[in-house]
Amino acid sequence: MLDLNLNHNISKIILSFFPKNYSTFFSSEQVKKFRLDYIQKEYSSLQKSQWFKLRDIEKLQLKKLKAYVSFVYYNIPFYRRKFREIGVTPYDINSLKDLEKIPIINKNIVRKNLGNILFPNCSFYLTFSTSGSTGKPFKLPVSFDAVKMRDALLQRFFSWTGCDPGKDKIMGIFRPPSVPGAAINTSNHVFRGLKYLLKNQLLWTPRKIDFNETFQTFFIMNKFEPKLIHTIPNVLRPLLKFKEEFDVDFPDSLKYVSLGGEPISVKEFQKQLDAEIFMRYGANDVAQRIADECKEHSGLHINMENHIVEIVKDNEAVQNEGEKGEVVITDFHNFDAPLIRYNVEDVSEFMFDRCTCGRELEKLGRVYGRKTDLLLSSKGKLVTDVEWIFQTLDDVEHFRIIQKRIDKVVVLVVPGHGFSERTEQYIVSILQRLLGMTTHVEVKIVDKIPSAQKFRFIISKISQKYFEGIL
Ligand SMILES: [Zn+2]
Repeated sequence: MLDLNLNHNISKIILSFFPKNYSTFFSSEQVKKFRLDYIQKEYSSLQKSQWFKLRDIEKLQLKKLKAYVSFVYYNIPFYRRKFREIGVTPYDINSLKDLEKIPIINKNIVRKNLGNILFPNCSFYLTFSTSGSTGKPFKLPVSFDAVKMRDALLQRFFSWTGCDPGKDKIMGIFRPPSVPGAAINTSNHVFRGLKYLLKNQLLWTPRKIDFNETFQTFFIMNKFEPKLIHTIPNVLRPLLKFKEEFDVDFPDSLKYVSLGGEPISVKEFQKQLDAEIFMRYGANDVAQRIADECKEHSGLHINMENHIVEIVKDNEAVQNEGEKGEVVITDFHNFDAPLIRYNVEDVSEFMFDRCTCGRELEKLGRVYGRKTDLLLSSKGKLVTDVEWIFQTLDDVEHFRIIQKRIDKVVVLVVPGHGFSERTEQYIVSILQRLLGMTTHVEVKIVDKIPSAQKFRFIISKISQKYFEGIL
């Protein structure tokens, strides 16, 4: 935490004293060198491999997979035992398909076996901790090799938007982590300290969403003049609201906004924002930069050089386009906490059409979020896009939908200006239309809805058995 607060204050002080045109003191070659710093090698290799034919990317994946499987077999007690149980050795992994011989693991399995999964001599301190919906948070170390790869992928994503690493400014705006110990992750690493201003990058972490901090955020944005803002919907929403209410605006320099962390309706944001929105999809516990959107905005390219993505339904990898299942990741580069076939528990689907950008990196379609963040109708069908409908209701300040049973939902509402009984009736009717007329909908008026870094609009408390066959 200290690290981030320090960053915040240093950035504020430095920006107040820095002349606005400080970046012109350095040539674009110098800025590019500052920015790519210790990831030059990874970055240039990723810039090349993104144009490889799919079969060559897969060849590269197989090479990395074999090395990774060998490493875990000889160094990680958890995997050695697992492999022996199923009678598999590294010599049995000769194609990407052979990966399916290895059983899928999830957060609970990792938590229970943590002492046997981490590399005994793990050296690097970067950690991520997650609590998810069940159990206590735990920390996973990230090896330096993986950090470099992840940072290089982030820079490649920035280049996909149209940002030139030699001259375009990037501002990251995030909330401080809500889980203690989660303060250090790789994206913070990219934006660390004074040195990062020389890279034309700035990390801004408003501690509160109040008038002062939001006003400051606009002030800093307009002073720094970023071309790209790298943030999450939960931070962007209050900024857009503030812009509507007060006489402030985003800087003219702003051309791109990168959003990730929760499934959103790009359309809703795009209406209020005069900048091109790029979606990204990541998971902090494994691989981190799972997939990113290119300029074509048609699905998210999987960063295949860093990991393998499988979509899994009832424990089997799905082969069909558009078939929904859970995202399962095999990371190639994190040797400190190696995870093979780790179920992230987000729901998504493959898109098999060739992207017109020319990259053959495979694509994910929509990412629907976690099973625990999805609504099911009384007929057991997945109901999506409910949150967007609610977000367009002007007289609702804030909301959360909790599905308690297959036929019962509770809606927490922080009423906005103009909220009336009619709004309440509208909420009930809309949910009944989507979920089934027999669904019992209860609207509860509240003052505040508790939130973490990622706001959960929907919380499902219904038994996971309902999802069988759907996902
Ligand atoms: Zn593309």
